[in-house]
Amino acid sequence: MSDLKRSRFRHALLLLLLVLSQVSSASDNFAIVNINVIPMDEERLLEHQVVVVSGGVIQSVSDVAATSLPADLLQIPGEGRYLVPGLADLHVHLRNADELLSNLAWGVTTVMHLGGSGGPGEEILSFREEIRNGSRLGPTIYATDRILDGDPAIATGALSLGTADEAKTAVRNLKEQGFDFVKIYNNVSLPVFTAIVDEAKLQGLPVFGHIPRNFDALQALQLGQDAVVHTEEFFFAYFEGPRSTRNMSRDYAPDLNKLPALLTVLAENNVAVMPDLSFTFTNMLMWDSLDNVWNDAEFPFLHPDTASMWQAGNLNRRDDLENFIVREQWKYALMQTLTIAFQKAGILQVIGTDASLPGLFPGKAVHRELTELVKAGLSNYEALAIGTRNAGAFIERYLDADARLGQIRPGFRADFLILRDNPLEDVRNARLIDAVVTHGVYTDKAELDAHRGDKDRAAELDRKALEVDPGH
Ligand SMILES: [Zn+2]
Repeated sequence: MSDLKRSRFRHALLLLLLVLSQVSSASDNFAIVNINVIPMDEERLLEHQVVVVSGGVIQSVSDVAATSLPADLLQIPGEGRYLVPGLADLHVHLRNADELLSNLAWGVTTVMHLGGSGGPGEEILSFREEIRNGSRLGPTIYATDRILDGDPAIATGALSLGTADEAKTAVRNLKEQGFDFVKIYNNVSLPVFTAIVDEAKLQGLPVFGHIPRNFDALQALQLGQDAVVHTEEFFFAYFEGPRSTRNMSRDYAPDLNKLPALLTVLAENNVAVMPDLSFTFTNMLMWDSLDNVWNDAEFPFLHPDTASMWQAGNLNRRDDLENFIVREQWKYALMQTLTIAFQKAGILQVIGTDASLPGLFPGKAVHRELTELVKAGLSNYEALAIGTRNAGAFIERYLDADARLGQIRPGFRADFLILRDNPLEDVRNARLIDAVVTHGVYTDKAELDAHRGDKDRAAELDRKALEVDPGH
């Protein structure tokens, strides 16, 4: 067998074993030879590089001409291709194991599960552990359990907290069960919010979430909220965007004189932000035509339960759709403005898509967000940085001080993608994935696709049943 064939065989076998959850070690030992590396430490491209991986870690990145490799080291040819860090989606709601492989297949090697949605928190923790110990193939997971909300809870499936004592107990429970952070929602009161951030600080858990709407938005950021999980929060909680679309007046304009104060508070308090333009843009696509989602080539990979949820939950069912569309357009324009302003002010921005809410395909949604960031006015490099190195900085800042990911450098985790074309020239080239390496495990994209979803099962779905019922 040639080296390449042997490597393919080994990788296919390894993938199969991993998918069957029967191996204990996910590490491998190989070199990608003569590839263009986009390290994402700054905007640059290194041609003709050798990247050596072992023990799940990048061991070296060096010029091919200056590198000699041990004769028995597995070598994977990289000619004409591009090596970039794996992508991160730091705002997902995982619904099943299928979504883990879909994320990987689209190059997403890190996800943060923001709980709620009745999602099985315990099951997420076992996925997290199995991926960590190499017995399951999937992205690195950070997770919380149920969302913490006020009384009454307005987030579906959230914990309703009426007092500071209840809030402290809820945070301690998350810590004891092994979750990584706290997610808060709009209806927490000031005393509950304060108890959450104080107890979270004691327990060493960061606090991410929506901006509370019962008190001043800037106060929440000053009191210790670490990240705002979508920029649309500022439309509602700070720029006085209409919260209800019933009887909505049509003369809204955000007061951008308030922007400098927001930038100052975000910067001074080290608050990170997720633009999440893709969520609102996807809603717009769905008003245009639901076919934009149902006819997506990714649809056959969607879990049938998720497809049913999309059918039941998509926003086109609203009876105030006309007002809703107007409001979403105001919101989208403001979100684009804020994304650019945050970038210029040096606010840490990371990708979070809210997949798999309706229209947001697990994994693929990250590529829509990359495109959205460029549409808003960022460069291809800036968008890619938000999806890679910024995620590494975010995780290091809030979740794991020892995590080294999001860049191609020795000592960093071997989470990277091999692309057929240069994403610095067109960010959509990040979709042209040949192979995904996660924790040092190399898998061909085609093999990942072969293992995820069940196309036959998806084809059985009654597509007619997915059409909108205008009566709702
Ligand atoms: Zn969410």
